[in-house]
Amino acid sequence: MTKDNIYGKFGICDQVFEMGEKILKGLETRFREIDETAEYNQMKVISAMQKNRVDAACFNESTGYGYDDVGRDTLEKVYADCFNTEDALVRPQITCGTHALALALSANLRPGDELLSPVGKPYDTLEGVIGIRPTIGSLAEYGVTYRQVDLLPDGGFDWDGIKSAINEKTRLVTIQRSKGYQTRKTFSVGEIAEIIKFVKNIKPDVVCMVDNCYGEFVERTEPPDFGADMIVGSLIKNLGGGLAPSGGYICGTAECVERCGYRLTAPGLGKEVGTNMGMMRQFYQGLFLAPTVVAGALKGAIFAANIYERLGFKVVPDGTESRHDIIQAVELGTAERLIAFCEGIQAAAPVDSYVTPVPGDMPGYDSQVIMAAGAFVQGSSIELSADAPLREPFAVYFQGGITWYHAKLGILMSVQKMVDANLLDIEKIKSMEV
Ligand SMILES: *Cc1c(COP(=O)(O)O)cnc(C)c1O
Repeated sequence: MTKDNIYGKFGICDQVFEMGEKILKGLETRFREIDETAEYNQMKVISAMQKNRVDAACFNESTGYGYDDVGRDTLEKVYADCFNTEDALVRPQITCGTHALALALSANLRPGDELLSPVGKPYDTLEGVIGIRPTIGSLAEYGVTYRQVDLLPDGGFDWDGIKSAINEKTRLVTIQRSKGYQTRKTFSVGEIAEIIKFVKNIKPDVVCMVDNCYGEFVERTEPPDFGADMIVGSLIKNLGGGLAPSGGYICGTAECVERCGYRLTAPGLGKEVGTNMGMMRQFYQGLFLAPTVVAGALKGAIFAANIYERLGFKVVPDGTESRHDIIQAVELGTAERLIAFCEGIQAAAPVDSYVTPVPGDMPGYDSQVIMAAGAFVQGSSIELSADAPLREPFAVYFQGGITWYHAKLGILMSVQKMVDANLLDIEKIKSMEV
């Protein structure tokens, strides 16, 4: 091992290490842009914290009903200011992203109303929430109907279709920012702004909600800057900064957020109750760190895209495209490579690194699935993690990385595992021109 190759400690050979360094040379400008976005968002967070006079008392634990919980109430003001909304609901009692989305929808829809998705099929778990897949307690059971306008074959918005889908019953429009595990593109904030403007022109009183999961702090603006009435997400993704052990958020208009409060606790009680479970310091500090954490995850995604693209694999997004979320897909072509990739991510983890991930059956999937994660917070996907169904085209989806250096190690390890198993040509790596 050359003395520069500290990654040799993990079994990364000089060829793989040097290939990584070559690729990085070509990414300097992009990394600088990512750092500049992080700097901008960092200032948004600090300014919101200063404006609301965050102090040590905000970190105290409350118990019981949680009346007059200064930490909780101040945090919600910080979120509202940071995301340019009138109010926010940020709670450990919101158990995950799906819960936050279900809450925002059920709080703001009434029997007879119609929900519209103008961007095609929503995230898998929302099928149960909406009742696309019959499920106990779904919106459908409460008499809320659902309509969907698919994207055009070229991935663009079907403006005519959206226009004709909006009717007197349409009450709420849901826009999913990140592609999740679909093949479409992730929307930029600018594209989301266009849909909101279009919808509000046709029907001004429609509530526009954005599923903001994985998109937070990737750009300088967020959907409420362009009229979104609610943004919704999970705290074990971007905004928890890796520190929040649980929780979800909804930022939006005072009216929408008030309804969400009444739905989360009880009509008449709303945001006034709910202990902070002693999580306040982690929520504040996680938000404080989130801009740089997101930057690290983005650098990892771009590094991986460029390495695997150079090795001849299809990557989505590609190595040069602009980014609007932190998810990277790599089509590896065979089950063996998929497994080796996940082994590499696992072997790079600070937690559970000695575990070997194996494919297994998962409820709701028609093929086996393999997952790699060695996280401080269980299931946290802002921490470096990968998962893949074992079927054509053998695409792995990976995301996260609390620090860029850890993401880098994970990606180098994924390549090394393939080299070790003779699934990649080391000669190709040695001779790679960048
Ligand atoms: C993760 C995610 C969700 C659901 O969040 P969970 O915390 O897994 O319930 C919803 N929408 C998108 C786009 C997501 O990425």
